[in-house]
Amino acid sequence: MKSPTLATPLSPGGSALWTAAQVTALAVTAAVLAGLFLAPELTLKIAWFAVVPLLPASFLINPGLWRGICPIATANTFKAPAKGRVLSPKAMNQAAWIGIVLLLVLVPARRLFLNQNGPALAITLVAIVALAFVGGRLFRVKAGFCNSICPVLPVEKLYGQSPLLWVRNPRCVPCAHCVTKTCIDLDQPRAIGAGNGTRTGRDWLKTPMGLFAAAFPGFIWGYFQTQDMALAEWASVYTTVLGPAVVSLVVVGAILLVVNPSTRAAAPVLGAAAIGVYYWFAGPASAEAFGLPATTALGLRWIPLALVALWLVRALQPSGKQRATA
Ligand code: SF4
Repeated sequence: MKSPTLATPLSPGGSALWTAAQVTALAVTAAVLAGLFLAPELTLKIAWFAVVPLLPASFLINPGLWRGICPIATANTFKAPAKGRVLSPKAMNQAAWIGIVLLLVLVPARRLFLNQNGPALAITLVAIVALAFVGGRLFRVKAGFCNSICPVLPVEKLYGQSPLLWVRNPRCVPCAHCVTKTCIDLDQPRAIGAGNGTRTGRDWLKTPMGLFAAAFPGFIWGYFQTQDMALAEWASVYTTVLGPAVVSLVVVGAILLVVNPSTRAAAPVLGAAAIGVYYWFAGPASAEAFGLPATTALGLRWIPLALVALWLVRALQPSGKQRATA
């Protein structure tokens, strides 16, 4: 019997489970939006220090876990046309840049208002959901948002390039071929560019994903060098976050140009570096936010780092592609 692939239709039981998970995610989102107005301090704490820190680790396990239930993706794909417009390869490159720029703008904005202002975060989330919904009306399936301008997509590609588990794509089966480049929902290792016309670091650096991966470790480090500040301090916040990103891009870019490693080696190392920096700071920050003891803070740092190490070792193996285990 043939093994199921990511494009194989789900069983009725699997489909019902995914639908239940998607409805639950929508209900949780509605509760979070209400909480951001009614109990902003507690909701912000749970959102930024309990929920969001789980997402990068879930991408290592498989980005499909989040992509399968993400409420923004639900808005994007809700009755989205299977025969609508698709983006040309050139337009996809431009869309990738839009997603990266959105990420580079929104993450530092956390320090200015999104970390502290519940209604502002709620309005931002609703605006993103609306953008995804409109994108779903204008383009085929996920071409108008989830596979083009979503600011989380570059992170999903970087951390999801060598998933630890195999997860079926629940949203668009059969595939409507909504994107003209490798789709992360169909082939995660190739979605980042490795072995997909960009076999070496030098080639990869000419792509949006390659440049993003080179800059991202510095960007995350820069974020954790800032504090929550007043809006008037925007220049200081963006300089502190984007400055290290530029340094990272220059240093890593020079290494990629000179050493010219294979993308299959460079991409996992840069992914592990970025997520490693993230959990080094984010684990203890979560423990502090909830007043947890120092031993818990150490656990919240080192347990995710152990997962990252396991992921990196596996990703660097020649056969480090995902295995169909289901
Ligand atoms: S190419 Fe588009 S329709 Fe096909 S699996 Fe990917 S997101 Fe879904």
